Amino acid sequence: MADTRDYMVRAMAAGRELRAFAVTSRDLVETARQAHGTTPVVTAALGRTLSGALMMSSMLKDPDGLITVQFKGDGPIGGITATADAHGNVKGYPVQPLVALPSRPDHHLDVGRAVGKGTLTVIRDIDRDHTYNGQIAIHSGEIADDLTYYFAESEQIPSSVGLGVKVEKDCTVGAAGGFIIQLMPQASEETIARLEDNLRTCRYVTDILDEGRTPEELLQEVLKGFSLEITETLPVRFHCSCSRDRVARALKLIGRKELQELIDEKKPQELRCHFCGKRYTFSTAELEDLRDELDAERKAREEGAKAADAREAGSPAGPAGEEVPSK
Ligand SMILES: [Zn+2]
Repeated sequence: MADTRDYMVRAMAAGRELRAFAVTSRDLVETARQAHGTTPVVTAALGRTLSGALMMSSMLKDPDGLITVQFKGDGPIGGITATADAHGNVKGYPVQPLVALPSRPDHHLDVGRAVGKGTLTVIRDIDRDHTYNGQIAIHSGEIADDLTYYFAESEQIPSSVGLGVKVEKDCTVGAAGGFIIQLMPQASEETIARLEDNLRTCRYVTDILDEGRTPEELLQEVLKGFSLEITETLPVRFHCSCSRDRVARALKLIGRKELQELIDEKKPQELRCHFCGKRYTFSTAELEDLRDELDAERKAREEGAKAADAREAGSPAGPAGEEVPSK
């Protein structure tokens, strides 16, 4: 994989009255665009969601944690899902990658209309055993706005989220990234007032990043006049952990009958990973192997259950592991 220039920073500002996150994500949004073949408005919606999910992942405390941000709206995109882990990996996809809409009167891509009204769900896998779900109604569908509302309504953390993706005339990604600023409980009135003033007069994220600014410089501009301390820097990338094995396992889970139907078509079957668009082809012989494995697993399970029943009934099943010969 090519080297990426994308990274994210975490910072404290105004003493410890504010915490801040910023990311530059041009390369990973371009990777996502190529993986899904998205049109500009979808590239922008997906890129904003990927960038937001990444910054939210750096709020995870557990190294095994995951965060999923999911928009389900009635707009033509149909929905967007992005999942990020605590190590700077993010993956995501739109339901419908080919949406064309006229730009807004201010010439910005009409992400809000493409997403539509519906729900925003955030699923945090806090550790292996615990998940936390928060859901709110989509406010504008512009993504950053909705995440701001999510933090306020679902987590009671006053936040400001800015996200942007610049799509070039040739449809490639020119710049992408964003910031999240959060008020700590000890934030003073003075800090709050100055922050609000900064946010009102701040330029668009896309314009700042398009000048080649770094996440640190983005925060310096948004948090002008505040002391700023960068506490963490992490490279980020678009990465999907799918593999042939995982797809094979998923194929076995679709059901014996459905698997047989694919075999009966007597042609190679191509499966596509939702998250990264990677394609996996299975020949008829390979599908038959999977079916046979499925049958063998089922048989083993049934015999295991029979043996357990027999033991429970107190029948002389012999020493453990020594099964009654089957017919
Ligand atoms: Zn994948």
